[in-house]
Amino acid sequence: MKPSLARFSIALFAALEITLILTMLSVYWVSSPIRHPASAQAEGLVIAQQIEGLALDIHQTAKLIARQPQTIACLKSGAEDLCRNQNIYALNQGAQIFLVPKSGVNGQTGNASGLSEAYTRFIAGPAGLPTAAGMSLTVSEPVMDGTNLLGSVLFTQDVPRLQDLFDTLPLPGGYLELRQYAHQDTYTVLRRRGDESLKVGPAAREITLAGTPWKLALWKADPQPVTELLTYFTVWLVLSVLLTAMVWLVYLRLRAWISEDLNTIVSLMSDIRRQRMRSTYQVNLTEFEKPLAMLVRLAQLTVGKQKEVESQASLDHLSQVNNRRSFEIRQSELLKTLQQGQVHSLLIIDIDNFKYVNDTYGHDAGDQLIVQFGQALKLHLRASDFVSRLGGDEFCVIFPNTPLPRAIELAERLRGNLPAVLELTPGVLHRLNWSGGLSEYSSKDTAENQALIRADSALLEAKRGGRNMTRVKMAP
Ligand code: GH3
Ligand code: MG
Repeated sequence: MKPSLARFSIALFAALEITLILTMLSVYWVSSPIRHPASAQAEGLVIAQQIEGLALDIHQTAKLIARQPQTIACLKSGAEDLCRNQNIYALNQGAQIFLVPKSGVNGQTGNASGLSEAYTRFIAGPAGLPTAAGMSLTVSEPVMDGTNLLGSVLFTQDVPRLQDLFDTLPLPGGYLELRQYAHQDTYTVLRRRGDESLKVGPAAREITLAGTPWKLALWKADPQPVTELLTYFTVWLVLSVLLTAMVWLVYLRLRAWISEDLNTIVSLMSDIRRQRMRSTYQVNLTEFEKPLAMLVRLAQLTVGKQKEVESQASLDHLSQVNNRRSFEIRQSELLKTLQQGQVHSLLIIDIDNFKYVNDTYGHDAGDQLIVQFGQALKLHLRASDFVSRLGGDEFCVIFPNTPLPRAIELAERLRGNLPAVLELTPGVLHRLNWSGGLSEYSSKDTAENQALIRADSALLEAKRGGRNMTRVKMAP
């Protein structure tokens, strides 16, 4: 199958359409988070892992404190100086650390959450809770003396990193809440993240955060695949229509340009055949300019050559006036117009005593006489007059659209205007005399050369009459 502009356009359209579909699929895939509910959950899990990690750190710290000999000594003795362990508090700035004796140890009673007046003496660290917003985590760790439970460490740590997590982690297409549960169903929301309008109905997912009293509740955006697909389909349809129109317009424009340019080349070929070249040939496409310029150059050469060959074929090689063949063609053309009432005349000219020139000055001088006589005829006749050499020293002039009386005038004028003396070769001067026979073409003539025969007999009369004169023979 040969390539064509139409096929190329279809292929281009198909390629662009595939690109469009792939682009739209990528956009649909990338830009639509609801297409990836897992990703929203994954973001929730990252937060969960981070919080659990923080809780673990805090537990580790609490564990370390619980194993400190000073902690054990404090809970065993209840001595205030032992309890205020500067090292522990210095290492955990920003945290509140409580050492809570087991009920009965040192006569003290209380519980971890109550923080009764009795335990205030064990409190260390900054006064008050670390964050009013509740973004702090409190863990409890038992303090053991061997297998004997002495009490517990209550460790409350501010967790600003948690706030950062909420503010920085991307959460596309979802809504996330950090809840602190007091009881089974009672909770307070510590932090919120995402589009709260998505919070409809029960949480899509609730993640318990190990080591904390918190849970993460996550809502996914409600996917509306049908509406969304319809939107994508509409966009695709509109873009496809635009694409089709665009490719179609490009195809039409290109086809028009190419066919116009090919027509220019065709008209160039036709001009070559008619041997009539225009001065310029214009094309639309740059790609055609160079080949066309080359074609025009070749055509100019061809036409020039053809014209030269043709003119050589129609001219007499010596005198450079029309030859006998051209004379006959022109005569035939004019004869056809006689029926339309046109009138044409002809004059046969024969140089007087030509042989004498040949014999006296040589053949070259004779040739020169023919050449100069031919040129002089052309010079002193009208452009419309048809000058030809019939052979030897015989010339013939056709006066188109000229009646005989006017032709007689022209012949006489010619006799007066032609140079009296010609210089044939350097120093060889020749007095120019010629005899003429005039007649006119007649529609009554039965043969093409009848007017020529009449003019010839008039010429003979002129020769017999003493030469250097013109005689006329009318049509019968
Ligand atoms: P007339 O006055 O009666 O015309 O006599 P003429 O001497 O001119 O003789 P004519 O016209 O009968 O003869 C023409 C001569 O021209 C005959 C031929 O030898 C010579 N001739 C023919 N063709 C050429 C040519 O091409 N070159 C030259 N130099 N001579 C030619
Ligand atoms: Mg002669």
